[in-house]
Amino acid sequence: MSSPIGCRVCTEFMTEPVFHWLKSSPTGPLMVLTGFVHGNEPVGHYVLEQLKECIAGLPTKGSWLFVEGNKQAYLQGKRFIDRDLNRCFTPEILLEETIYGHEPELARAINNKLSAILDEFEDREIHLLDLHSTSAHGMPFMSALTRNTAELLLPVTPVPKISGLLEQLQGCLAEWFVPELTTSHIIECGQHDQASTLEYGLNAVILHSYILGMMAPCEQVESAKAYLAKASAPWGKIYTEICYTLTVNKGDEFSMYPGFENGQPIHREQPLATLNGREICAHLDGRIIMPGYHLPVSEGFFLSQDKPRQ
Ligand SMILES: [Zn+2]
Repeated sequence: MSSPIGCRVCTEFMTEPVFHWLKSSPTGPLMVLTGFVHGNEPVGHYVLEQLKECIAGLPTKGSWLFVEGNKQAYLQGKRFIDRDLNRCFTPEILLEETIYGHEPELARAINNKLSAILDEFEDREIHLLDLHSTSAHGMPFMSALTRNTAELLLPVTPVPKISGLLEQLQGCLAEWFVPELTTSHIIECGQHDQASTLEYGLNAVILHSYILGMMAPCEQVESAKAYLAKASAPWGKIYTEICYTLTVNKGDEFSMYPGFENGQPIHREQPLATLNGREICAHLDGRIIMPGYHLPVSEGFFLSQDKPRQ
């Protein structure tokens, strides 16, 4: 067993967050891209590698920063080491500093480093786009974290929309930095291991950068719009709102019944999963969102109901 001092040194080494300045400009807005906040979601890594190759040739404006999320978990092919990093951006963890472990310490390090950068850009527009993927196959989607993000992006982007998701969760990175941001949104790009998920992420970054005024019209923007429209087409123009979350606590035994896809319609009394040996059935007609197939999960699934398109 390691000595406490040895652990401390090792942990500090592992929790140093890595930021990449893809482009730096003395004027214009700042785009912050965050990826592999969950270590089992390779889309962020793909977008980072692709942008390193091509961003110099794209008609971008302003500065572009890529924040690596949970690299240690990514390298180990795990969602997280000690706890979900995307539930660690809370005042309790970030400010009180009494909770230890890889992700709490990593969240504090990201917070300190990114906050200092956001302070430097406080007189400019700052956009944050957090890239994720899901364990189930099915519908990719976006979630806007502020009203103006929704107003800017929702009417003009061919990506299914989910609202109310972040209200159900505590400690998400994209939510924590909202006070410093002009816009903040999350894109769930599809199932973790599908090649189309990687392309969906890259195309979403290009199109949304254009809509947010950080890229001039060009062939890549047109092609991104066409790609997203086609890849989103099976789900039409879905706009759905989360109305229920099945929370799974540490030590709970959760098992999703097989065959559910993200965004799939479900009906009242339909059996969905088991939790600690008890069968869980839907209590409403709606959709199942992010059924959790890769354990461990913090939420077993969400249920939503559709809203009129904005
Ligand atoms: Zn994720």
